[in-house]
Amino acid sequence: MTAPASPARTGDPLVPYPADAVRRYREAGLWGSRTIPQEFRAVAARYPERDAVVALDGRMTYAELDLRTDRLAAGLAALGLRPGDPVLFQVTNRLESVVAWYGVLKAGLVPVATLAAHRGHEIGEISRRVGAVAHLVEPGGRFDLVAFAHEQQRDHPTLRHVLVLGELPDADPVPADGPVPPDDGDPDGVAVHQLSGGTTGVPKVIPRRHAEYWYNAAAYARTWGWTPDSRVAHLIPIIHNAGIVCAVHAVHSVGGCLVLGSPDLDESLPLMAREAVTQVLLGHVHYRAADHPDFDAAATSLTRVILSGAKVPPRLFDALEARGLWSGQLFGMGEGMFLATRPDAPRRARLETVGTALSPLDEVRILEPDSEEVADGVGELCCRGPYTLPGYYDAAEHNERAFTGDGFYRTGDLAAWVEIDGERYVSIEGRIKDLINRGGEKINAEEVELLLLRHPRVSGVAVVPMPDPRLGERTCAYVVVDGPELSLAEVQEHFAALDVAKFKWPERIEHLAEIPRTLVGKIDKKALAADITAKVSS
Ligand code: AMP
Repeated sequence: MTAPASPARTGDPLVPYPADAVRRYREAGLWGSRTIPQEFRAVAARYPERDAVVALDGRMTYAELDLRTDRLAAGLAALGLRPGDPVLFQVTNRLESVVAWYGVLKAGLVPVATLAAHRGHEIGEISRRVGAVAHLVEPGGRFDLVAFAHEQQRDHPTLRHVLVLGELPDADPVPADGPVPPDDGDPDGVAVHQLSGGTTGVPKVIPRRHAEYWYNAAAYARTWGWTPDSRVAHLIPIIHNAGIVCAVHAVHSVGGCLVLGSPDLDESLPLMAREAVTQVLLGHVHYRAADHPDFDAAATSLTRVILSGAKVPPRLFDALEARGLWSGQLFGMGEGMFLATRPDAPRRARLETVGTALSPLDEVRILEPDSEEVADGVGELCCRGPYTLPGYYDAAEHNERAFTGDGFYRTGDLAAWVEIDGERYVSIEGRIKDLINRGGEKINAEEVELLLLRHPRVSGVAVVPMPDPRLGERTCAYVVVDGPELSLAEVQEHFAALDVAKFKWPERIEHLAEIPRTLVGKIDKKALAADITAKVSS
C-alpha cells in the first residue's frame, strides 16, 4: 500500500485514504455506497414504529425521528446553510441533540464535535480552523451557551448562524419554491469533524467520512451481535466519538433503541430500569456504578456491560459477574481504531486485555520508537485500516510525526500482545502521549503548560496527571514562579481570564525552585508524576 498523500504536497487540508485501500475496503464489502443520512433513512424505513431514541427529556420512533430531521434539514437549507458548511455542536445528552445531529447531516452540513464544556479559547481556535458557519448550542445550562455563541460571532466572519436546541428551524421538506435538502452526497466525503484528545497544542481535527464512519459503528454493533431488539444505554457525552459511534450510529445501524441518559446515575439508572436496557457502555467515571443503590434495578434486563476508557479494576469485573452480567472491554479513539473483547473471548482476555481489532482489514502493530516491530514486550500501538484516519485536517507538519512512513497512525498509547488460548489480544500498558485523562476528557499537558506560561509570574512549568479515585486522573501543575507562591485560586483566575474550558484548569499547584530535567535535558515528567502520586496517596 502506498503512503497517504501528504497535504504539504497536495496543498489540500484533507489527507485522502490511498486509492488502493479504498478499493480493498469496498471490494471487501466494508465500505458502503451511501451517506450516513441515506443509511439512517433505510433503517428508519424498515423499522418505522420502533423506538429510535428514548432520552430523559422525551422519545421518538424511527418514523418520527426521520420526519423531524427531514424538516430540520429543510429548515437549515432555507436559512442559507449549504452542503459542506461546518456546524459547531455544544450540546449535552438530550433528545434534540440527536435530532440536530441527523438534521445537520441530512442538510449535508458537517457537525464539528466540540464539547459543551469548551469556551472561547477552544471554540475560537477550532471554529476558525474549520471555518465554522453555524454554532449549535443548548439553552438553560448553568453557563449561558446561547449568549456565548453570540459573543463568538464577533470578529468571526464565517460564523453567521446561532442555532438553539428547542428553537431549531423547521420547514416543509419539499418546498414548492425553495431548495430541496441534498441527498446525493459523496459516501467518501467528510461527514463529521471529530476532535483529537491526544496530540500537541489545541485539539487537532479528525475528518470522518460517511462510509468509513458508518462502517466503524456498524462493525461495533455486529461485534456485540446487536439486533432491532437491542436497547442500548449511553450515559457519557453523546457528541464524543464514543457517543456517536458506540451509541447513536451503532444502535441505529441495526434498528435498535438508544436509551440516552446523562452522566448522573441518579437519573440514568432509573431510566435504564424503565426502558429495560439490554446493554450499556460504562466509561471510567462510572466504574463505581455497581455500588449505586439503583444499579440492580437498572440491570434487570442487562446482558452485557462494556467497560472503556481505562484499565478495569478486577473488583468491578467481579461485582458485575457476580450479578450474572457478561463484562468485556473496549478501546476506542476519535482517530478510528477500535479493539474489543468479543462475546466468545475467554474471561482472562476480557479482564486483562482490550481484545482484538474490530475489522478484518484493521492492521495493528506494536512498534519500537524506531518503527521496528516489538516481538515481545511493550511498544507503541500503531494502526491502519478501514476507519482509522489517514491524516489530521490541515495539519501537514503534525501528520509527518503522527504517522509511520507506511501510513500507520501512531496512537501514543503503549500496548503489548498477550497470548491466551492460542489467540493474540492487545493489552494497554500506559501511554507516551503527554495528556491527562480526566474521567474520559483528554487534557493536553502542553496546551495547559503554554497557558500557564502566559501568567506574568510563571517562568517554568510541567503539567502531570495526579491520580484520582473518581476521575482516574486530574491535572497537577508544577510551577516555578517569580515572587511569592501562586495560590490555586490565582491560577484558576488566570485560566478563567483566558476563557479556557474548566475541565482543563489545574487542580493542584506544586512550587519548585527549578523544573527537574533528565540527562538528555527533557523535563522529567516521570519523576514529577511519581512525586505527586506519592503525595496524594500518603
Ligand atoms: P478519545 O479519542 O477521546 O476517545 O480518546 C482515545 C484515547 O483514550 C486512547 O488513545 C487511549 O489513550 C484512551 N483509551 C480509550 N479506551 C481505553 C481503554 N479501554 N483503556 C485504556 N485507555 C483507553
